[in-house]
Amino acid sequence: MTKIISNNPWTRAREQIKEIASKIKLDKDLTERLLEPDRIVEVSLPLKRKNGKTEILKGYRVQHNNTLGPYKGGLRYHQQVSMDEVKALASWMTIKNAVVDVPFGGGKGGIIVNPKTLEGDELEKLTRIFTQKLYNIIGVKIDVPAPDVNTNPKIMSWIVDEYSKIAGRETLGVVTGKPLDRGGSEGRTEATGLGGVYALLTTLKKIKINYKGMTVAIQGFGNVGRYLAHFLQKEGLKVVALSDSKGCLYIPNGIPNTENVETCKEEKGVVAECYCLGSVCDLSNKKALGGKNITPKELLELPVDIIIPAALENVITEENAPKIKAKIILEMANGPTTLGADKILKKKGKIVIPDILANSGGVAGSYFEWYQNINDEKWTKEEVFKKLKEKMENATNQVLKAKEKYKVTLREAAYIVALKRIEKKFKRSN
Ligand code: NAD
Repeated sequence: MTKIISNNPWTRAREQIKEIASKIKLDKDLTERLLEPDRIVEVSLPLKRKNGKTEILKGYRVQHNNTLGPYKGGLRYHQQVSMDEVKALASWMTIKNAVVDVPFGGGKGGIIVNPKTLEGDELEKLTRIFTQKLYNIIGVKIDVPAPDVNTNPKIMSWIVDEYSKIAGRETLGVVTGKPLDRGGSEGRTEATGLGGVYALLTTLKKIKINYKGMTVAIQGFGNVGRYLAHFLQKEGLKVVALSDSKGCLYIPNGIPNTENVETCKEEKGVVAECYCLGSVCDLSNKKALGGKNITPKELLELPVDIIIPAALENVITEENAPKIKAKIILEMANGPTTLGADKILKKKGKIVIPDILANSGGVAGSYFEWYQNINDEKWTKEEVFKKLKEKMENATNQVLKAKEKYKVTLREAAYIVALKRIEKKFKRSN
């Protein structure tokens, strides 16, 4: 009988947990616990608008599981929120934090609002009201939020301010992703992209592939994509294609210097025009560089060794998965591959380095920030990178070992590593 694949993210998240739990005979009590969030909190946020009227907005926080430590996960400000999606995202944080072995559980939350509709200081006011309402359920050792969709370091610094005011003492460790001058960590911005590079290189070394000169196409040139491109190029891989929401840059012989593309993108706002020869970036260089036109859709189907979705979810689907030529897929975005596509890639023998491992450098970076805050330390960027390398290499090696042992995909292996780690702690404390 064909199993129907649900599109409901929470149903999918539960199925993933159930499937692996049954494979490794996970403790039954723990399995039950992981199939429901520990707590769901919904709060009303009365915001006095510029026009004098008070609008009641909704805020929420899902705390999925805290076996390994305080709940940890982002806060998003978005007009469309489905509670099932938030529950799924919180549970994936539980798994991701366990894969990369940081002492955190999983959480997720936010406010149902389109931040573009807020005027003047309304965003700050709303964030402060939200912090007051969450005060009793967040905290350094309880639940540590971070930025997510439409939230940023500035918003995190307002949360620190408000929380510290109520607590009567400065409490930097209550959130991560803060500005550098407000308790943020060196290297946090680069951590997700660089962590992905470490996961990729560790995998390639293990399967004895010489990665120098391998060709790479990256979808997305934001915070994650730009550091990926930079560090991959530094390691001797050949970045041939980059894209953003407005178009693609494709130079089959290799983009000469992705740092110049970064500067150019900042100036022009689009990567598609960034044909850089030396520091001169211009469409007139396109011919000399051998640039070619492709559509954003074609980027993932290019004849390259590695493709990296680093922008949106659900971009590798049942429709384009059969057309993917790359042998390796490094999932830097969260959830870039649909369940149906995942099955196709598995059948085709592709190596998919899953999001819960590939982009976990971000949470490792957050952990380093939190650790420095609570221990009153300040690490250099070099120290952060060294610790990140260690964390990512260990996590990747553990996942590769589980893959061999259980004869499963890297995604399933990552779940096995995570669930076993949670189980070990669960058994000690129950
Ligand atoms: P970002 O907003 O900085 O950048 C996103 C990039 O994707 C931009 O360049 C944008 O132009 C591009 N983009 C948007 N639509 C596109 C499209 N249709 N085709 C091609 N490119 C498109 O975001 P980010 O922080 O770089 O995050 C990227 C992904 O990585 C997200 O899925 C995010 O959830 C995930 N992630 C980020 C972090 C982190 O630390 N930033 C950590 C873990 C996971």
